[in-house]
Amino acid sequence: MTDKGILITFSGPSGSGKDTVLNELIKKRDDTKISISMTTREVREGEKDGVHYYFVDRDFFEKKISSDGMLEYAEYAGNLYGTPKEPVDEALKAGKVVILEIEVQGAEKIKQKYPDVVSVFLMPPSLRVLEERLRGRKTEDEETINHRLVIAREEIRKSSDYDYIVVNDTVENSVEKFSMIIDAERLKASRNKKIISEVINNV
Ligand code: 5GP
Repeated sequence: MTDKGILITFSGPSGSGKDTVLNELIKKRDDTKISISMTTREVREGEKDGVHYYFVDRDFFEKKISSDGMLEYAEYAGNLYGTPKEPVDEALKAGKVVILEIEVQGAEKIKQKYPDVVSVFLMPPSLRVLEERLRGRKTEDEETINHRLVIAREEIRKSSDYDYIVVNDTVENSVEKFSMIIDAERLKASRNKKIISEVINNV
């Protein structure tokens, strides 16, 4: 057991498959917890409030920011998205691996607040594949798809700042690689100072 939980930011362009990878990962690992974000964007078909997101209006979101209830937030494609603070702090205290599925600006803000955060970027095999996936899911109109593809190029440029890049060729491979990252992070000496003192003091 590491000294405390591990915070992970998980980013990648819209349509790169983050949700699918996370859904499979949590089936394999009960030490992980996915943070539920708050957003002002409209509910997509099949999404549930309190499961995929907390869907709120701008006014509610802004009040939450002013009462210091958000760990980070960002504007993305005209909507606000953010991470409620309290559940993340609690899960970290309980030793969990807490995963924030957030876009790059949010991940940068978290890095400033939590220097030992682990950042993972899910890379589509190509922009062509990304475009096919975005069109294939039929949840966005043409204008939104094009906007998301423009943002995607910018996000991919920034991926070199991340600790890990996972190319999402198949969901199975990506889940396996993500799980390996978590295992490696748990073994890091900097996260296991308690063990060192316990062994030295013969506890
Ligand atoms: P979508 O509308 O496709 O669900 O999400 C759009 C983008 O917002 C994705 O890149 C997603 O990772 C990001 N996002 C979701 N929740 C948060 C959050 O709490 N904070 C930030 N900064 N980005 C988020």
